[in-house]
Amino acid sequence: MIIVMKAGASKKDKDVVLKCIRDLGYKPHVIHGETRDVIGAIGGDHGKTALQSLESMHGVEKVVPILQPYKLASKEVKKDASLISISDNVVIGGDKVIVMAGPCSVESEKQIIESAIAVKNAGAHVLRGGAFKPRTSPYSFQGLEEEGLKLLAKARELTGLPIVTEVIDPETADMVADYSDILQVGARNSQNFALLKKIGKLSRPVLLKRGMSMTIQEFLMSAEYIMSEGNQSVILCERGIRTFETATRNTLDLSAIPVLKGKTHLPVVIDPSHGTGDHHYVAPMCYASVAAGADGLIVEVHPDPEHASSDGAQSLKPSKFEAMMAKLKLFAEADGRTL
Ligand code: PEP
Ligand code: MN
Repeated sequence: MIIVMKAGASKKDKDVVLKCIRDLGYKPHVIHGETRDVIGAIGGDHGKTALQSLESMHGVEKVVPILQPYKLASKEVKKDASLISISDNVVIGGDKVIVMAGPCSVESEKQIIESAIAVKNAGAHVLRGGAFKPRTSPYSFQGLEEEGLKLLAKARELTGLPIVTEVIDPETADMVADYSDILQVGARNSQNFALLKKIGKLSRPVLLKRGMSMTIQEFLMSAEYIMSEGNQSVILCERGIRTFETATRNTLDLSAIPVLKGKTHLPVVIDPSHGTGDHHYVAPMCYASVAAGADGLIVEVHPDPEHASSDGAQSLKPSKFEAMMAKLKLFAEADGRTL
């Protein structure tokens, strides 16, 4: 249920309503609006009629049911787009298209520093790089782990770029959060509910990737797992889904952008690198993503893709990334946004 407070409701009115919600066995989540607050009462289906009776309380305008199974992620609870602040000048969900770029994996100090400088010079806003790699094969490179996180922190210090890096289990989540600015949950872990609950308790924005066989509704339910634990800063990332097509690594579902925008207030980012698996297709999918309304992109860039430890075939060389960024600016501007 959503409890819509009156425009002039006092803090005392709100506190009394919050207490009633808790007494009825629900978890209240306050969403501050420009003119009024809205409180989501999240929990089981019990006591719905009792919640409805809150409508007669002082300061309450109306009580309305949330129809979707995802509640906090739903546009029913919050109509305005969520702005997720990463650093002073990086906000995702607004008029500026945010580009995250860097190698698939952190491989060495030289590689990550070179990548960070290159993507920064080309206009990227966030540095990506995996230190914990959830590889399909146990024999593939698994990442530099904490050493990789330290190298990412060094690259941030040098360039000022915030860092997005993957977290693969609840045990190492606090450590990854200590080093990073955005926690990435990969496609393979997008329904690892223990992990989602753990990072829901942390105060770091999360880049949640869509699982390879996940419906849009399941994707939003995974976001709900994080949000229901308290962390509202969730960025959704479409990275391609499995279909019968084999010409590309995955099928990048660009229609997920308008579909998600119709259902949720959370920002939507596209990963054309994993979405296509081939560097030749990355730039066109970047342009199409921005034209379709994506709030940002996450792109793999490597100074020497032929010798990359992972995902070299889909990584752009810095010069190609720079050319892509120059053209992307025109697409952003055509849509009334900036890059
Ligand atoms: C990655 O970003 O390098 C990655 C492993 O992505 P995904 O989880 O989308 O496969
Ligand atoms: Mn990768």
